[in-house]
Amino acid sequence: MTHVFPRHTKATLPIATRGEGAYIIDAQGKRYLDGSGGAAVSCLGHSDEDVIGAIKDQLDQLAFAHTGFFTSHPAERLADRLIAHAPGTLDRVYFLSGGSEAVETALKMARQYFVEKGEPSRKHFIARRQSYHGNTLGALAAGGNEWRRAKFNPLLIDVSHIAPVHEYRWREDGESAEDYGLRVANELETEIQRLGAENVIAFIAEPVVGATMGAVPPVPGYFKRIREICDQYGILLILDEVMCGMGRTGTLFACEQDEIAPDIVTIAKGLGAGYQPIGATLCTSEIYDAFVQGSGFFQHGHTYIGHPTACAAADAVLTKLTEGGMVARSAAQGEKLDAALRAAFGEHPNIGDIRGRGMFRGLEIVADRATKAPFDPARALHKQIKGAAFEAGLICYPMGGTIDGQRGDHILLAPPFILSDDQIGELIDKLDTAIRSVLG
Ligand code: PMP
Repeated sequence: MTHVFPRHTKATLPIATRGEGAYIIDAQGKRYLDGSGGAAVSCLGHSDEDVIGAIKDQLDQLAFAHTGFFTSHPAERLADRLIAHAPGTLDRVYFLSGGSEAVETALKMARQYFVEKGEPSRKHFIARRQSYHGNTLGALAAGGNEWRRAKFNPLLIDVSHIAPVHEYRWREDGESAEDYGLRVANELETEIQRLGAENVIAFIAEPVVGATMGAVPPVPGYFKRIREICDQYGILLILDEVMCGMGRTGTLFACEQDEIAPDIVTIAKGLGAGYQPIGATLCTSEIYDAFVQGSGFFQHGHTYIGHPTACAAADAVLTKLTEGGMVARSAAQGEKLDAALRAAFGEHPNIGDIRGRGMFRGLEIVADRATKAPFDPARALHKQIKGAAFEAGLICYPMGGTIDGQRGDHILLAPPFILSDDQIGELIDKLDTAIRSVLG
């Protein structure tokens, strides 16, 4: 008998009782290698003593103080350090409890920025198809995943969705990667012109797409063109790094590799590394100053923003990521993981694409490598692979995405950066067992 409202009402889940490095252990003593960090959360594994120690120390001093009355040392310290590492002119940090809240905050911050500037006609956001930005209503509206939106469509604010960038799927024969990037980036310009720039608030995108397409990086030059269009038309660029940020792709912020900086960026998941629920929305001083010179406050807030214990945990995580060398390790182990995936599955007749950056990798499953046709969605292969991997003691994150209007399948890998070379081997062996048991 359970009173927890589960994700899937028909599933019976094992009880997770202990974490040990890259493993989760259940009540029966079965060990699971965490090949996906949950969903790209547990970047430091499950038993980091420094982070746990920082949480205990903070609890001994002060668990919580409401931001209506106080700020706190952990929040101030973490904000200072995030800003010191952040790209461009990002200058202020608004702390939240997770990714959806961070995206919701980014959308409202962008809207209020223009209201403060005396441009209240701006009410449109532009996002991309096959994106995921969270499950609260604003974030869900920004996301372009039809399946996730379907039951809630009548409740969602109006957001335009342009093409995603996915070279393997949609670059045309004979088209260079750069030309493809420009072609899809220019859809933003067309959509801004259609809506009227004076009505548009911002464009929002994940630098490396996670949940909906499986670790798909942009092509070179794509985001530079996006940045240029946003600047030209005076609209804000919001980057959602909830999944791909905090070292996941081998740099602290994923957008560093595309050599651009956003006006607003959202982070979560790896920020607390699973030790505490925390997210953040960072914005430029230009945006912040509009609030200071305007109404003097952001019409927003949640009870747990700037939670001292969560901030203390994230501060310890950030130390591990930066001074502790874990971002560099994500880059290095990520290259090894990529090589191992290519060696194991590069010739597999049903693996069409292997891609990603750092410890963020995706495998795309196809019925036919030549045509790139997906399998019949009724087979739900991603679910079968997830089940077979779990049985074999591996947590991975297979998903069904939408490809040319059809549902396709991919597997997302986002293991802890601490993964050893041997554990990369174990991950590959277990994934191989799972894939071969389902696909042959
Ligand atoms: N944005 C992105 C890019 C995400 O991947 C996610 C979570 N998968 C979210 C937002 C929402 O984060 P949360 O689940 O913490 O609300």
